[in-house]
Parts: sequence; C-alpha cells; structure tokens
Amino acid sequence: MQHRSFWLREIAGDAPDAPPLSGAARCDVAIVGGGLVGLWTAIRIRQHDPACDVVVLEQDICGGGASGRNGGEVLSWWAKAGTLVALAGREEGIRVARASEAAISEIEAFCSVNGIDAEFNRGGYLWTATTAAQLGAWDSTVALLDDLGVQPFQRLAPTEVARRAGSAVHLAGIFDASAATVQPAKLVRGLRRVALQLGVRLHEHTRVTELDRQSPAVLRTASGALTSDRVVIATNAWAGSLRELQRRIVAISSDIILTAPAPDRLDEVGWTGYEAISDSQMMIHYYRRTASGRVMFGKGGWGIALGGRIPTSFDRHPGRAGDVASNFRRIYPTLADVPIAADWSGPIDRSAHGLPIFGHLGGREHISYGVGWSGNGVGPSVLGGKILASLALGLDDEWSASSFVRARTKALPPEPIRYIGAHVVRNGVVRMERALARGEKPRALDARLARLAPAGIIPKKG
Ligand SMILES: Cc1cc2nc3c(=O)[nH]c(=O)nc-3n(C[C@H](O)[C@H](O)[C@H](O)COP(=O)(O)OP(=O)(O)OC[C@H]3O[C@@H](n4cnc5c(N)ncnc54)[C@H](O)[C@@H]3O)c2cc1C
Repeated sequence: MQHRSFWLREIAGDAPDAPPLSGAARCDVAIVGGGLVGLWTAIRIRQHDPACDVVVLEQDICGGGASGRNGGEVLSWWAKAGTLVALAGREEGIRVARASEAAISEIEAFCSVNGIDAEFNRGGYLWTATTAAQLGAWDSTVALLDDLGVQPFQRLAPTEVARRAGSAVHLAGIFDASAATVQPAKLVRGLRRVALQLGVRLHEHTRVTELDRQSPAVLRTASGALTSDRVVIATNAWAGSLRELQRRIVAISSDIILTAPAPDRLDEVGWTGYEAISDSQMMIHYYRRTASGRVMFGKGGWGIALGGRIPTSFDRHPGRAGDVASNFRRIYPTLADVPIAADWSGPIDRSAHGLPIFGHLGGREHISYGVGWSGNGVGPSVLGGKILASLALGLDDEWSASSFVRARTKALPPEPIRYIGAHVVRNGVVRMERALARGEKPRALDARLARLAPAGIIPKKG
C-alpha cells in the first residue's frame, strides 16, 4: 500500500472514495488530476458556468499527490519577481505577483465561507540565511522591487530573525507578512467537498492511460472512456509522461520529516510564531511550526526521476529522510532530542525558470495544461484555477490574454542526457552545500556545477 503523508493519515476516512469511471461517459470539460490545481479549476468553471458538466479524473484519491503531502507553506510569488518581470514585463509581472499575494487571502476567505478548517495561520514568510554563503540571497529581488516601487519585504535585524526562527543558526533574513501556513490535506480535501457540492463529477482510482487528442478528446482508463469537448491537464510531475510536456518539466523529489508534538520545547527556544520559513540553499530547506507544536522540516531537490516516470521512492525514502533529519538537527541543535514522528516524500514538477507554464497541448485549443509549479503551488494554485478555467472555457480575459500565461520558455535537455546531467549537477550542489554548512570553501568544480542548476522556490544568488 502507498505510504501516505502524516497530513492525509490525520484525516483518513474523511469521505468515501468516489467510484472509478466505468464504461463510456461524456462531459463538457474533463480535468485530469484531483490536486489543488485541478480542483480550483473545476470549482472556478462551475462558479462561472453552473451548466458546464465538469468531470475530474484522479488516479489515486484527491490530494494523494503533492497537494496532500506538501509543507503547507502558502507563499506568494514576490520572491520570484525577477523571473516574473523577465517573462511578462514590469507591469504584468507586478500584477501577477500581486495576484499571487491576493490568492492567500482568497484561500482564507474560501475556507471561512465553506467551513474548511485547514489550520490557516497567517504568520508571514521568513526568508533566511543559515550560512555565510547564503547572506544577501534576496538582495537582487529586494532591489528590483524597490525599483518597481513595491516592497512587500521587510528587512529584520539578524537578532530578530534568529529569535523568530528559534535558532541562532539563522544569520539574517527578510519577512513578507502576506504568507500563511495550512494543514495541506485539510485544504485539498475541503476543496474536494466544495467541488462535489457544486456539482463537479469525480472519479477516483481512475488513471487516464491514454489521451486521444482529436476533438472531442477521448480519455481512456482501465475500465472506461470519457469523451470530452475540452480537457485540462493538471497532473503536476506526472505530466512529464506526455510527449508534448516531456522537455518542459523535470520531476524531482521533496522530502519531509515531522517531529512529535513539542510545543513547550518550541516555546522555550522562542519559536512561538507560525512563520513559513526557508533558508537560501539551492536544495532549499523549508520549515514551520504546526498548530499542535510539531516541526515540519522539508528539503527539495534530492531525488530525480527519469522522464515522467515517478518512482515509488518519491512516496518515501528512508535515506533521504535521514539526510533531512540531520539538517533539521544542524539548524536546530537545541531541538536535537525531539523525536521524529513521521517522514514522507512527494514529486515536484520543476520547470526551467521555476514558475508554472500554461498553454494548449501541441497547440490544440481544446486541451489546456498548467504544470511546473516548482515547489510553490499551494497559494499560486488559486491563480492556476483562474488561468486554466479561462483557457478551458475559451474566455477572453486578463488571464487568457496575460503575457505571463503566453510566455514561451526554453526546453530542458532530452532524456537520458537530462537524467545523467541532473545527477552530476545535483551531486555537485550537495557537495558544495555540505562544505558551506561546515564553514569550508567548496571545490571549484562543485561551485561551477551548481551554477548550472535551475532556480527553485527562490532565485539563484549572484
Ligand atoms: C513534499 C512536498 C512539499 C511541498 N511543499 C510546498 C510548500 O510548502 N508550499 C508550496 O507552495 N508548495 C509546496 N509543494 C508543491 C505543491 O504541493 C504543489 O505545487 C501544489 O499542491 C499543486 O499541486 P497540483 O494540483 O499541481 O499537483 P498534485 O496535487 O500532485 O495533483 C496532480 C494529481 O494528478 C494525479 N494524476 C497524475 N497522473 C494522472 C493520470 N494519468 N490520470 C489521473 N490522475 C493523474 C495525481 O495522482 C495527483 O493527485 C510541495 C510539494 C511536495 C511534493
């Protein structure tokens, strides 16, 4: 049986599974993937056009993918301002960044209106440096935002950063007050409930094994076939198995450990707030305190998949979890004795520039996709829902016309060159970051290899 995240196990049995697709069926819009992106899209379409017959096909259960496994850090795209402006221009880049910030409030309001207790907590985002080499990782972003006349980040005194993060290993940092944290499975399962209430038809344990791309399209599964006028691909890292998207995303793992509840210990070290925290490593560490006083500590980028095939080691990997635990203890030496209660992994759909890509599959107007969230999709998936609903319904609006949505990006190298190259680069990054964490100078070759790695949740320094 598949290893589930602690978050999903915490609410196991919240609702009976929807029945698999059986036999031949027809609909107006078929959405492949029942994660946050697919469900926001389904909800948005039904809100816009209640007569539109929407069917979601999910190979597992809704939330079984990244959406029910993530760290629960609900971030804006302000840290990505440089890439947004490069892709969409100054005005549209800022508009999209503002929309990503507004999405956080939309999640809060949606949960409140629909009675979803997702443990939403607006603690802000603390972007920190935990080694001397990470100092100033945010300088170019802050300077750009100053230049653009919009400054969501507040510079904090180093002592204040260390106090809020609960560890003196934090040397400096900046703070964006708009960010929040959630229990991710509660959020995605809440969306599932609302989608069903709005009349969305759902089939779980229903993997689309073949997509006939003619119009109308036919989505084939083990026990049925769904004919649909429009299709939305919201399959995150799994989308790499589609030939048109193979060179647009690479699937990498993100690995999480969760401690036992230790609220008193966290209070003792001064970690009393609910900030979403990250360091500035390329293989980023992201962490936060949960409502019950546990520590969630994750690391992105260790596992690399070949093509769109997601290995079972992306559900759980004891070796990678051990590395994450040792990094937790390095950054929080005073909490070193707090037991680890759970660990799990999940796939990230990394694009070349670290932001999602949207479009029509192979130029076919009736099949849209939105993939490449690159490890920051919890908040931005709200925008994904708006963009994909507009593309699927053929609307002429701020999203379908956006230069961000229409931006063309460069392709990644083909397999197996990419797989081999990614391992060489990743190993260089690992060696470099281990040396820096020990306060040593990295080898020149490793530093050169690291320069070839794509940007992730935060931009690359330099
Ligand atoms: C360990 C981890 C930690 C993360 N931490 C954060 C964080 O703290 N903050 C943040 O913003 N982001 C984080 N992310 C990323 C974030 O979870 C995603 O970007 C976000 O949930 C958007 O997900 P999605 O809907 O695109 O993908 P998913 O939730 O993965 O949904 C895609 C769905 O498609 C289904 N599917 C795939 N192929 C098929 C098929 N052929 N037929 C039918 N169904 C199919 C899958 O089963 C899956 O349920 C993290 C991700 C992981 C894995």
